[in-house]
Amino acid sequence: MTHQTDVLVVGGGATGVGVARDLALRGVDVTLVDRGGLGSGTTGRSHGLLHSGARYADSTPADARECIRENEVLRDIAGACIRDTDGFFVQHARDDPAYFDTKVAACRDADIPVSVIDGATARAREPALTPAAERVAVVPDGVVLPSRLVAATAADARAHGATIRLHEPITALTTDAGRVTGARTADGTTLSATHVVNAAGAWAGDLAATAGVDVDMHPASGVMVTVETPETDTVFNRCRPAADGDIVVPHGSTAVLGTTSVDVDDADEFATPDAAVERVIDECSALLPAASDAPIRTTYWGVRPLYSPSDYGDDARAISRGFYVLDHADCDDTAGLTTVVGGKLTTHRLMAEATADLVADRLGVTEPSRTANEPLPGHDDPERLDALVDTFDAASPADADAR
Ligand SMILES: Cc1cc2nc3c(=O)[nH]c(=O)nc-3n(C[C@H](O)[C@H](O)[C@H](O)COP(=O)(O)OP(=O)(O)OC[C@H]3O[C@@H](n4cnc5c(N)ncnc54)[C@H](O)[C@@H]3O)c2cc1C
Repeated sequence: MTHQTDVLVVGGGATGVGVARDLALRGVDVTLVDRGGLGSGTTGRSHGLLHSGARYADSTPADARECIRENEVLRDIAGACIRDTDGFFVQHARDDPAYFDTKVAACRDADIPVSVIDGATARAREPALTPAAERVAVVPDGVVLPSRLVAATAADARAHGATIRLHEPITALTTDAGRVTGARTADGTTLSATHVVNAAGAWAGDLAATAGVDVDMHPASGVMVTVETPETDTVFNRCRPAADGDIVVPHGSTAVLGTTSVDVDDADEFATPDAAVERVIDECSALLPAASDAPIRTTYWGVRPLYSPSDYGDDARAISRGFYVLDHADCDDTAGLTTVVGGKLTTHRLMAEATADLVADRLGVTEPSRTANEPLPGHDDPERLDALVDTFDAASPADADAR
């Protein structure tokens, strides 16, 4: 069996559906394939934090600027895929006050709106916050519901002609005379394409390898713990250099605590030690004391699609959270293949736009991207969004309690 398409996108996470939507809105014939449901990779297994960029403001300001820009775009186009909380960056009594000052200054430099309040004022707003909070920087963090986001994005792609194929693992890319020509699925179907986009996230290296192309992925796992807590409506971040257990994302009467960062060799098979769960609870309790003995609803693990062509030492946290679009015609003499890796859920639309710009150029398509301005279908209708989640088998642990 053969299916013909102009662009084949492998990977139905946020990045892949974003690419499919962007190209479909430009009038390109697109087919997207995922081995599972939409968002079944890392996208549905994140914190679900819509970054303001404050987290990266002092370390990688360019990433911070991308985050705040996309944070604003997603609030405009994605409606009920986003919950409009704020974020607290909390200086705990044990934390370095100078780091807090650096963070606030870096936010201002990156054009991230920030205001500083004292611990008592913050606790008046969020009584569950630790009494050890000394100062709090308030930033426009939010909560993103990955299930709704990928479903609505795919629905728009489909409405503009894209084909979405789920539960179809790609076993190999097909090649002919130095050019990628499509892919084969596990049931023997050949998907023939003028151009293939590798949006396979942490698995992008495995997919590229089937075409003899090296993509230097450094997947890093992290655990999230969903606990029952007093109701909160603000993201809590510990204001210190990135470390285990410094983010608490509210979902009504539950909260997602996270996370850790451990390099893994295989993004499907990796250790999930109880000690990591305990560590995250312990560290997050410094922000939200009720977490220390709160009933656990669920634990889940995700794998970051980190890409680094250079040696980064022994800590994956040192790898940029920026994104990379690799044109393999340029870097590997392999035409017909583009890989997009790295980045964040928050910046997926921008990643998709950059990828689609390159692919459109290769195809001679001159239509510009429209994804930053056109609202997603169902953006103002939570029930319709949840029906789309069912349609695309997009339910995920990151927002299981929110829908
Ligand atoms: C612990 C953790 C917490 C995070 N928290 C946040 C956060 O709060 N906010 C934020 O902005 N970002 C966060 N991130 C980062 C963010 O989740 C990811 O960068 C983003 O979701 C990656 O999306 P993606 O589409 O590139 O990859 P994925 O979502 O992994 O999509 C890749 C898809 O490819 C499919 N696939 C792979 N191989 C094949 C194949 N052979 N055939 C068919 N399909 C295939 C997979 O099934 C998968 O669905 C977090 C990441 C981790 C690990």
